[in-house]
Amino acid sequence: MERALAGFLLAGAIAFAARTVRALSVGGAVAALVVGTAAAIAGWTWATVLIVFFVTSSALSRFKHAAREARIGGIVEKGNERDAFQVLANGGVFAGGAILAAGTGESAWAAAALGALAAATADTWATEVGTVSGGLPRSIISFKPLPAGTSGGVTVTGTLASILGAAFIASVSSFMGLGRASAAVFVGGVLGSLADSLIGGTIQERRWCDGCSEATERRTHYCGRATRVVGGVPGARNDFVNVVCTLVGAGVAAALAR
Ligand SMILES: [Zn+2]
Repeated sequence: MERALAGFLLAGAIAFAARTVRALSVGGAVAALVVGTAAAIAGWTWATVLIVFFVTSSALSRFKHAAREARIGGIVEKGNERDAFQVLANGGVFAGGAILAAGTGESAWAAAALGALAAATADTWATEVGTVSGGLPRSIISFKPLPAGTSGGVTVTGTLASILGAAFIASVSSFMGLGRASAAVFVGGVLGSLADSLIGGTIQERRWCDGCSEATERRTHYCGRATRVVGGVPGARNDFVNVVCTLVGAGVAAALAR
């Protein structure tokens, strides 16, 4: 109970700071408060790995932010401020798994939670690094060149960043003593991020702005015009893809940890 209250206050302070520097929207800050408190209820080590994920990912988003915005601002669905759905899509599976791990003592739940976080980290690092590294993005499905920022597009640098991100969470969690399945967490993270690209390149909804004749993921283009769906499954948007990414990370890590 005391830990829940302390966790709530700590998560609140971090969410407030993140809101102040516009890393989170107001809704995103509330969602971060919920996810952070849940992690603290599971235990301080869980809260610590979550903070490590959040701080490194936010820092990477700030790195070369102007260059990224110029390259992909017209294409990507969401801006720099992470909103509530984004926070829950990236942290929800982790928080649920952490609470189940703490409640049951089952190592498979611990692996699932960490696999989900490794996948979210791998995907975030790949996006943040890949979109400013300058390499030519190619479709993970057809290998054809794609505009930077297009879902399903991968670069060599971005892929290396995703592998590093998964390895980073596997190492940090192992160092913190959260289970001994760091290889399973690493593989879960890499495969979760791979699933994100595969789904992003196939079933994720693709939209088009008739005014600018440009592909985009935004419902309203930067020109102000409403865009229309031209491919993929309507409604399968970025947050849905991120949830699948973390679920694949969780499932793979839990299966391998057994
Ligand atoms: Zn437009």
